[in-house]
Amino acid sequence: MRVLVTGGAGFIGANLCRALAARPDVDHVTALDDLSTGSAANLDGVPARLVEGSILDRELLGHLVSRAGAVVHLAARPSVPRSVRDPMASHTVNATGTLNVLEACRAVPGTRPHVICASSSSVYGDIAVPHKSEDLPARPLSPYGASKLAAESYTLAYASSYGLPVLAFRFFNVYGPLQAAGHPYAAVIPVFLARAVAGEPLPIHGDGTQARDFTYVGSVAAVLADAVSRRVTSTGPVNLAFGTRVTLIELAGLLGRVLGRPLGTEFLPPRTGDIRESRASPRRLLGLFPGVRPVPLEEGLRATAEWFATAPLGAPG
Ligand code: NAD
Repeated sequence: MRVLVTGGAGFIGANLCRALAARPDVDHVTALDDLSTGSAANLDGVPARLVEGSILDRELLGHLVSRAGAVVHLAARPSVPRSVRDPMASHTVNATGTLNVLEACRAVPGTRPHVICASSSSVYGDIAVPHKSEDLPARPLSPYGASKLAAESYTLAYASSYGLPVLAFRFFNVYGPLQAAGHPYAAVIPVFLARAVAGEPLPIHGDGTQARDFTYVGSVAAVLADAVSRRVTSTGPVNLAFGTRVTLIELAGLLGRVLGRPLGTEFLPPRTGDIRESRASPRRLLGLFPGVRPVPLEEGLRATAEWFATAPLGAPG
């Protein structure tokens, strides 16, 4: 099977291209990426073809999609703050770009490609429940969250309106190798690692009791690759996280254990709009992928720290 990965030179995309290329049922992997936040170097040593271009280029998309058995659509303009500064830019790439991908897939004659789309836990907003289940109403608080909700809604609507085989995943805090500290996402784990390597205290906004459902990128790539192979579909969105709960204070302690030395912390004022609890209900995911075993946080942090120590991309940007 030929697989097209949009955003394939990004953090999750490049990890996925590597996982896909290792599978016997995948003959060819193409990454389509405009390199706005991704990097060609992320695909070094990965047997995938990188096409430098945009999902906003409908002609290019049509050409690439017509040859694919599956499309994993990860390309997006990430970051909540960027979307607050420029909502139209986020909408154009995240919502209209997704519509372009879906239209290209709909236009394929005969067996149309299986489409897997990346949505986000940001669609839930700050609903105060212990586990975020897909049945909860979506209340995004930012233009970024709204654009991801539009993307997943279009994806699911293309299944009901046109019979396209689709799967829309909601990712929670994904971490792991290739996630640079200078990325616009400003994810907490690479920021902590960069500070620890520099011998500086780890910055914690607020009191550090806010909790996250950290998901190792290897676990995400394994689920995505299995979904491609088995052509898994769902009529509703599916959380791609495992329901773990780790506070930022616990994360700092765990990272100290992984690095073999205690790490200092620096408490800063809380960030406006910071969500206190973000934890998935994995029920739907485990129903569709009963064999999946997530990489435990300590193991994932160890692999991430090893990569960080050697990769120039790990340095703060
Ligand atoms: P990333 O920024 O590393 O990857 C996005 C990729 O898309 C980049 O390589 C970028 O260059 C590319 N891109 C952007 N605009 C493009 C365009 N117009 N045409 C082609 N390529 C374009 O971020 P990531 O963390 O790997 O995110 C991948 C997907 O997962 C995104 O859809 C993101 O919204 C979603 N997501 C990620 C997380 C997370 O924790 N990392 C959480 C929720 C959702």
